[in-house]
Amino acid sequence: MFLGVSAEPDVPPSMHTLFIIAAPSGAGKSSLVNALLKREPTLALSVSHTTRPPRPGERYARHYHFVERAEFEKGVSQGTFLEYAEVHGNLYGTSRAMVRAKLGQERDVVLEIDWQGARQIRARQFDCVSVFILPPSWDELNRRLRLRCTDTAAVIDQRLRNAREEIAHANEFDYIIVNDKFELALTELQTIVRAARLRSILQIPRQQALIS
Ligand code: 5GP
Repeated sequence: MFLGVSAEPDVPPSMHTLFIIAAPSGAGKSSLVNALLKREPTLALSVSHTTRPPRPGERYARHYHFVERAEFEKGVSQGTFLEYAEVHGNLYGTSRAMVRAKLGQERDVVLEIDWQGARQIRARQFDCVSVFILPPSWDELNRRLRLRCTDTAAVIDQRLRNAREEIAHANEFDYIIVNDKFELALTELQTIVRAARLRSILQIPRQQALIS
């Protein structure tokens, strides 16, 4: 993205792209993103802050920075977050410092965030590329959420209700992928990343010697 057009003076101009990936819980977003990072190792994943308690197997700073609500709210008042939102009753946010650091390392950054966060990033006029992942059907989403078994039945029901709201915002995204066959969805996601990197807005400055 061109952070040069950003309203945020503390995020330096960058020739690198911010990829926003959103989906309802259970659509397979994290598996797709993890596989994408293996195929495209120059991508950097932004690790969010959240007030949600860790699930079994989740590690601090690898899956999330797990923090208390008071600490998160203090961060909000201090402008720590590039975007943040309340999702499923918990707060989630993207650290501005982390994005700045990764862009400073000349990396494209992947944000796994919800539609509200995606809106905030767009409203800040960042030139980003956004992708929405859909499940193949409601039955399949239901099945995947229950199979995961890491959440209680009440939490799963809440996630299904929230999925309706999340999916209602799919039309705000640049691309929509249906994650039916994992390998196909992964290739589609990789194709979007590769095409975005070849946009002329990025290529012209890179290839100035040839073009001018
Ligand atoms: P989960 O608790 O299942 O890991 O994530 C729940 C939802 O929160 C997902 O839709 C996920 O994309 C979203 N989320 C995770 N991190 C962030 C963030 O930093 N900002 C926003 N806005 N949403 C996030």
